[in-house]
Amino acid sequence: MKISELHKSKKFSLSFEVFPPKDSDNYQSVKHATEEIAKLKPAFMSVTYGTGKGTSSYTLEMAKMIKEQYDVSSIAHLTCISSTKDTVLKRIREFKEAGIENILALRGDIPKDLLGADRSDWDYHYATDLIADIKKIDEGFCIGGACYPEIHPESENQREDIKHLKEKVDAGCDFLTTQMFFDNNLLYNFLYKIREAGILVPIVAGVMPITNAKQVERARQLSGSFMPQRFITLVDAFGSDKNAMKQAGIAYATDQVIDLYANGITNVHIYTMNHPDVAAAIQKNVSDILGKEL
Ligand code: FAD
Repeated sequence: MKISELHKSKKFSLSFEVFPPKDSDNYQSVKHATEEIAKLKPAFMSVTYGTGKGTSSYTLEMAKMIKEQYDVSSIAHLTCISSTKDTVLKRIREFKEAGIENILALRGDIPKDLLGADRSDWDYHYATDLIADIKKIDEGFCIGGACYPEIHPESENQREDIKHLKEKVDAGCDFLTTQMFFDNNLLYNFLYKIREAGILVPIVAGVMPITNAKQVERARQLSGSFMPQRFITLVDAFGSDKNAMKQAGIAYATDQVIDLYANGITNVHIYTMNHPDVAAAIQKNVSDILGKEL
C-alpha cells in the first residue's frame, strides 16, 4: 500500500523504522528483529539505506520481505550523494521490479573525507535531484522526504532550510518524515512555520526511544537534537541501570507520542533501533491509552 493512501484516512498511525544487516555476520539477527517488528503489524515499516557502509544491498530485500511475508507496507530509503547516476537509476529500477511502492528519497550525509572537496562534477547534490530521477522512472512511486524541526546541520538558518524544503516538496514529495526530537514544542513550532511557507503535505513525526545511556551521545551527534532538562535528568538518574533506563526511555517516548496525538499529530514513526521489545512496549502503551489496537 502506498503511504499516501494511508495518510488519506486521517486515522492515527504508528509506524516503525528498522536498519538492514551490515554484512552476512549480523544478517540472521537483524532479519529476525525485523520479522518480530513486522509481526506487530504497524501501519508501515521503513528500512534505512547505508551510505558506503555496506547496508545498502539489504534494504530492498528487507523491504520486500516485510511487504510480502508479513503483509505490512514498507518504504525503502535511498540516498544519492555518494553514488553515481547509473547506480541510483539501477536501484530505482530494482525497487520498481520488486514491487516497492514507497521510497524515502534522501541526499545522505557527505562522507567526512569529502566534506571540503570540489563537488561540481558529482552526479547528485540534493535530495531534490534524486526525486526528479525517481519520477523519471515511475511517476507512480509514493515519495517521502526528510525534514528537520531543529534545522539541518548544514543550513545557515531555518528560513533557508524551509525554502529548500519547499523546493523538495514541490519536486514531488508526498509526505515528510522528521528527524528525531526530544521536545515536542520544537515540532509544533516547526509545523507552524512550514505550513505558513506553503508546505502542506502530511508530516510523519519521528520519535527515538533512548533506552541506553550510550544512545544519548550518538543521538546528539547524529541529529544535534536539543535534550530537554527533564530528559537529561532521567538519563542521569537511570543511565547506569540497564533495565531502568530501558523502561524510562520507553515511558519518555510513550509520553511524547501521546502528547503528539493530543496535539493533532496523526502519524508517528518510531526509530526502533531494531529492538522489537521496545517497539512492542510503545505500541501497547499507546494502544492502551488510546483504547484501540494500533
Ligand atoms: P537535502 O534535502 O538535500 O538537504 C540537505 C541540505 O542541503 C539541507 O541543509 C538543505 O537545506 C540544503 N539544500 C537543499 N537543497 C538546496 C539547494 N538547492 N541549494 C542549497 N542548499 C540546499 N541517511 C542515510 O544515509 N540513510 C538513511 O536511510 C537515512 N534515513 C533518514 C531518515 C530520516 C527521516 C531523516 C530525517 C534522515 C535520514 N538520513 C539517512 C540522514 C540524511 O541522509 C542526512 O540528514 C543528510 O545530511 C540530508 O539528507 P536530506 O535528504 O535531508 O538532504
